[in-house]
Amino acid sequence: MILSTILLSAAAFQEPLQAEVRVADLKAHIGFFTSEELEGREAGKRGAHLAASYIENQFRRLGLKPLGEEGSYRLPFALRKDTAYNVVGILPGTDPELSKKFIAVGGHHDHAGLGSGMSGAMGFPYEIHNGADDNASGASGVLELAEYYAAHPSKHSMIFMTFSAEERGLLGSKHLVQSGILPNDDILFMVNLDMIGRLTEDKLFVGGLGTAEELHDYLDPVFEACKLDLELDDRGEAPSDNTSFFHGGIPALFFFTNIHEDYHMPSDDAERINYVGEVKVLNLVQRVIAKLDGAPSLTFRNHGGMGMPEDFMARMNTHYRSIAKRKSMKGKLGVRAGDVVGNGLLVDSVRDGSAAAEAGMKDGDVLLAINDRNTIDMMALRRALASGLKGDEINIKVLRGETTVRLTAVLK
Ligand SMILES: [Zn+2]
Repeated sequence: MILSTILLSAAAFQEPLQAEVRVADLKAHIGFFTSEELEGREAGKRGAHLAASYIENQFRRLGLKPLGEEGSYRLPFALRKDTAYNVVGILPGTDPELSKKFIAVGGHHDHAGLGSGMSGAMGFPYEIHNGADDNASGASGVLELAEYYAAHPSKHSMIFMTFSAEERGLLGSKHLVQSGILPNDDILFMVNLDMIGRLTEDKLFVGGLGTAEELHDYLDPVFEACKLDLELDDRGEAPSDNTSFFHGGIPALFFFTNIHEDYHMPSDDAERINYVGEVKVLNLVQRVIAKLDGAPSLTFRNHGGMGMPEDFMARMNTHYRSIAKRKSMKGKLGVRAGDVVGNGLLVDSVRDGSAAAEAGMKDGDVLLAINDRNTIDMMALRRALASGLKGDEINIKVLRGETTVRLTAVLK
């Protein structure tokens, strides 16, 4: 399954470099990042490693230069128990002078995994949190822009990067900025793409415009000519990776289509992405980069404060209510199991009046599968039941003595 997914994705990219940002490419990238195999890309885990390898392969295909030792685009850093990887590629500029400086474009590729809570999930453990908007959209945007600029290099050199462990507190971008791996002093400005896949009514937030003295002079005409409904903000901080660059003294812009009801939820899925909207966002980023590519230098300004959309807190409050509602709808089976017996779990007890009791499950049954997913251990059982809501019908396979019995339960 992994291999076939990767091969399929690779096959879609055997064509010549694309001169423009395309819906089809965004769909292919986001489709890969949100595939079941990646299990929500939790930093330090296999899914995030697969995402980093995919990005590395794309950077190599585009002819970017690696920053890491021995030709690796993946730059490791330590988490408490695991290793996580940022991915960085360099594209040389065309102007002999301006190419000594860099325009940096980044976005995080990690997300909340199986909702352990460490990555800010909203309390739905054992469900896959695909993070299509957060931030498969941004990581895919980085890939699409890298492809565009590989075909049309800018005067400045460019750095394309995706970060890991953003959801654990901007750890990957902090590591990149603080470890001295990046040419910090020579970065003209940074663009952060985090959650750019849910453009609604063409409303887009652009933060960080006060982080260099000249930004408004350069960019106000670009924004005035833009057909999107822009909310512009000068402040340099946000709950996202541009903050790490801003704290490192680098002008940094933040593009964001705002939070929504699926934020950090198992329902942040690819089919809810506004792909045409994301192309519009990336086209604006291209115009911003084109304008600033003519700037020989920018003067950093320490303009702090959390720059977020005006209705962010109101949206968050609505979101918390919908989370509580979804939690109250979670369905229970009502069995206690523990010991692994053969290919299943031994049912210690079936609670009276529970969904399991009404379905006819009995103490001593060995639970083999739920909805055709094997329940070979407790983790598998929790995952099989995780997304079940009250009233959902599930198919259960148990071994009773020597006989396989199939039951249907309605979760309570
Ligand atoms: Zn997030």
